[in-house]
Parts: sequence; C-alpha cells; structure tokens
Amino acid sequence: MPTPETTATRHDQHGRYAQVHSVADIHRNLAIVQARIQAACIRVGRDPAQVRLLPVSKTQPDAVVRLAYAAGLRMLGENKPQEALRKWEASQDLSGLHWSVIGHLQTNKAKLVARCAAEFQALDSLRVAEALERRLQAEGRALDVLVQVNTSGEASKYGLEPADVPAFMQALPAFSALRVRGLMTLAMFSSEAERVRQCFIRLRTLREQLRQSVPDGIALDELSMGMSGDFEIAIEEGASVVRVGQALFGARAVPDSHYWPGEAPAHA
Ligand SMILES: *Cc1c(COP(=O)(O)O)cnc(C)c1O
Repeated sequence: MPTPETTATRHDQHGRYAQVHSVADIHRNLAIVQARIQAACIRVGRDPAQVRLLPVSKTQPDAVVRLAYAAGLRMLGENKPQEALRKWEASQDLSGLHWSVIGHLQTNKAKLVARCAAEFQALDSLRVAEALERRLQAEGRALDVLVQVNTSGEASKYGLEPADVPAFMQALPAFSALRVRGLMTLAMFSSEAERVRQCFIRLRTLREQLRQSVPDGIALDELSMGMSGDFEIAIEEGASVVRVGQALFGARAVPDSHYWPGEAPAHA
C-alpha cells in the first residue's frame, strides 16, 4: 500500500486538464477526484465523509456553472468578488446554489461578498472583518468565514502570519455576523512534495495551538487546504475542505498570476 511519504504533487498537470463540455464530463472528473480523495483518506485512516470538496468555478463561463449544477454541485468557489457576484446574479434561477469566495478581499468589495456569498475563506485583516460586519448587518445576514494564513512564508501570498493569528482570533467575537469556522491556506507552489506538506502541517499545528486559547463562539473545525495539484497531501495532513478547480472543470485560459500576484505564470 502506498504511504503518505510517497504522495507527490500533481503540479505537472497544471494547465493541462481538458475542458468540460457536458454533465458527463463533470461526472467523470468528479469520480476521478473523489477516488483520489478516498485513496488519500485510506492512506491515513480518515473517513472520506470528513472531507468536503469545494469545486472552484473561477474563470469558467456561466455554461459551465450550469453544467456543474446539473451534475449536482450546490456550492461553487470563486476567487474574485466581482466574478462571484456576477455569476450569482446570472444563476438566480438555480435554486439552492451557494457561493464561496476564496480570494483576497479589499474593503471596498465587502458589499459584494455580503450580498452573494454563503462563505468567505480569505479573512486576513480586521479592516475587512469590520467592512463585512457592517455590510452583513445592513443585509441582515451572517456569513461563515475562514481565516487565511500564510503558511509558505512567501511575500506574494495573502494571509496572516501564523504568529499573528492568536491575537486576531481574540478580536473576532466582536463581529457578530461573522461565524468563524476555521483556517484556510494556499501551500507553496512547488513540485517538492515535502515543502508543500510542511505548509499544511503548519496550518494543522497552528489550529492545535489555537484550540488552547480561542474565545467562545469561534470554531476551528475547518482546515481548508489543497487544490488540484496538492489536495491529496493536504488530506493526509488533515484538510476538511479541498478547493479544486482545474481537475473538475478543465484548465483556465487566464494565467494564475491574475489571481495570485507575484506567482510565476509557469510553475515547476
Ligand atoms: C483557483 C483557486 C483554487 C483551485 O485551484 P486549481 O488549481 O484550479 O484546483 C484553490 N484555491 C484558491 C484560493 C484559488 O484561487
């Protein structure tokens, strides 16, 4: 049986996944991804039911959103608030479809997230927490949020430094419309599995440390980590949510540097 020590990244597939044209294409990709999730769970003795697959539809056209819905998917991830709002508006007839915003938010876009998102995974400043709280109060609703942590030490990555997270958590109960559910990270984009794994270990270790000190009402159950190229390693290290785009919906035409400033367009 393969052991976690041998699990590799799949960054070599980056940009090579085939476009989807039908519900059957999405069902096939879902089956492949779910089998990979299951295999990773088995390697470390986890129950696959504890891992939520968040399909990421960024850059994909509305037609693909509709195929995803027809394939049974009911929550989709978007990196940019404007794109999330636009797709939310365009899919009002798809009942029960929810949106998760997984990318960095500027305070002047908080209104968009407060309007259309069921979940926000990239909380990384008190200014954004304040802006979201104000907009959510105005909308009369609450939002599930994850705190984004920079576990790779790369200046280009968003997220709080691990050392700053404990104090940040102490401030969050003041925002009653934010339901804190856990932590999120983007690992280093490297073909060296061990360096990627260290990022995930860092997030899980931080969660264990925080458990000693988090205020009442702050939950830390969610660890959102792993994407098409590295979700199996993330699951081996405890991910409860994996955010998977390309492996489900095909390669994106837009280079990743558009979403992750500073990221090189071609990856190792
Ligand atoms: C695009 C994106 C993903 C998914 O990446 P894939 O390589 O398409 O699986 C995951 N997380 C975030 C924050 C993203 O922006």
